[in-house]
Amino acid sequence: MRDRDRPVLILGAGINGAALARELVLNGVAVCVVDVGDISSGTTACSTRLIHGGLRYLEYAEWGLVRESLHERTRWLRLAPHLVRPLRLFVPVGNRPGGLGRTARRLLHMEGARPAAGDPRGLWLVRAGLRLYDQFARDPALPRSTVHRVGDAGTPEVDPARFRWLCSYSDAQARFPELLTVALLEDARQAAAERGVAWQVLPYHAARLHGARVAVHRRDPFTTAGPVTIGPAVQDLEPLAIVNATGAWVDRTLQHLPVDARRLIGGTKGSHLLTFHPGLRRALAGAGLYVEAADGRPVFLLPLGDATLVGTTDLPFEGDPAEARASEEELDYLLSAANATCPGLRLSRDDIALHYCGVRPLPYSPARATAGITRRHWLEEHAAARPLFSLVGGKLTTCRALAEQATRAVLDRVGLTVRDNSRERPLPGAAGWPQGEVEAEGQAARLAAQFGVPRRQAQQMALLAGSRVADILAAGVDPRCSPGPELPLPSDFVRWVIRSQWVTTLGDLVERRLMLLYEPELSAAALHALAELMRQEGVLAAEQVPLQVAACRDRLRNRFGKELTAAAGDSPVTDGAPRAT
Ligand SMILES: Cc1cc2nc3c(=O)[nH]c(=O)nc-3n(C[C@H](O)[C@H](O)[C@H](O)COP(=O)(O)OP(=O)(O)OC[C@H]3O[C@@H](n4cnc5c(N)ncnc54)[C@H](O)[C@@H]3O)c2cc1C
Repeated sequence: MRDRDRPVLILGAGINGAALARELVLNGVAVCVVDVGDISSGTTACSTRLIHGGLRYLEYAEWGLVRESLHERTRWLRLAPHLVRPLRLFVPVGNRPGGLGRTARRLLHMEGARPAAGDPRGLWLVRAGLRLYDQFARDPALPRSTVHRVGDAGTPEVDPARFRWLCSYSDAQARFPELLTVALLEDARQAAAERGVAWQVLPYHAARLHGARVAVHRRDPFTTAGPVTIGPAVQDLEPLAIVNATGAWVDRTLQHLPVDARRLIGGTKGSHLLTFHPGLRRALAGAGLYVEAADGRPVFLLPLGDATLVGTTDLPFEGDPAEARASEEELDYLLSAANATCPGLRLSRDDIALHYCGVRPLPYSPARATAGITRRHWLEEHAAARPLFSLVGGKLTTCRALAEQATRAVLDRVGLTVRDNSRERPLPGAAGWPQGEVEAEGQAARLAAQFGVPRRQAQQMALLAGSRVADILAAGVDPRCSPGPELPLPSDFVRWVIRSQWVTTLGDLVERRLMLLYEPELSAAALHALAELMRQEGVLAAEQVPLQVAACRDRLRNRFGKELTAAAGDSPVTDGAPRAT
């Protein structure tokens, strides 16, 4: 086989594996992506969803990382305006000098990375950080940082007894990083077709090394709980190189391949809760809040559609990242942080619509406190019969830059040269799509009028597919036929997603393609209708439909604490996991 036809095998279809696959294909390299689960079913689906420079990394003198992240933020806003939107954030502060001494000592490496309980950051420190942030970003499209008095019109309602000022700054939000990941793979598929390069994505598969060859095994997509058991090999590859992009699973993947390596990942878990509490949504005034919890750790309160996302925690985590769950203590901690910020809120466990927990793929660092572990990324090469690398670290924000760096290293190693990059390549759905929320809603309304579909349907489709909605509508969509009265999506659109976006299980469709996990009115009947559409599209057999509905409902309850509406006949599940009621 010629080198040109041999693929680079990428293990892991999270945002980093997907971005790398795209970058390699743009360079004319064949790619095979293998994931033991669904696309973006790992940490990528469990983040705070910010596309940001990482304001707090300034306190750890991570200048290079912050600058790179801010430049990538600007790029994402341009290349994926339908998936990445600007977000204004406010930092409430109660005094002027708070935190100055501690930060100075930290910058001079005279103090560890312990959180700052009892010494909240003050106006001078926050303002200095934000000026540096503006300086690094050099983004003329986003407003620079400003300072407001608590109570000023248009600012979030924070407790005036605790806070005197609100420092505001610009960042960005990927409401659904899951869709960013799918879009990266769709674009890679498109680029592969344009360049005549071999291309494969294999969700629910696993790879095993046999010298210089790799056997790819299918795994049963319908039994995802517990350790991964694999079926017979379905492909035998002789890859040009292998990249282990399995994030928090990097060490486990090396063990399974198997490959001898030092420990690379020291994951920390972070939990979030989602609430539709109207008072909190009102208090945010359309912006995000960046507050300090009682122990000095940062917590975000972010608008997410009609809901508010509150997160996160940062706790050392050993064990299988797939088993990480938000604990009772973490949920109480996040509720307290929100209640201590906004007066009279009284947010309680009853207000939690769902929660989720992910494990950060941070570099292993035996000595340091979790907050101070570097968020930088790198590529580690292992001794193996084929060039074999692991991606260590990385954020959503920097996945494209990391992919460029990794592509350079991999191609260098196999004697090829870099010919192209993704710096100016928009994602599918970006063409002609406006940047702001209001403008995007206007565009969706125009499409609704042009094609005679309800405005809410057009807006929902546009949220998921950007400007591609025009083509989907032009191909013919019956707006009267939908999977459920509470779901503003035509069945024809759902069919398009099933056909074109590697959907294998009902969970894939609900959690990571249609984003119905975040739909408060999702019912058991709608799950059934969606599974039925999958059956009609040939993805599920008839006998799998009820099993998939039950499995999906149980996963929503056990993993996310989410209850369906009108779920008559559901059997109770008792696993000790916290419930969102
Ligand atoms: C709580 C929290 C908040 C965060 N907030 C932000 C934020 O606001 N902004 C930001 O930029 N970043 C944030 N991050 C970081 C960011 O989410 C992650 O760095 C990023 O998603 C990692 O992507 P990945 O592709 O490396 O890993 P993952 O998304 O975890 O993907 C790894 C994939 O590998 C697969 N896999 C596992 N084992 C194998 C195997 N043996 N073979 C094949 N496949 C395998 C998994 O199924 C998974 O799909 C946050 C992270 C956490 C945990």
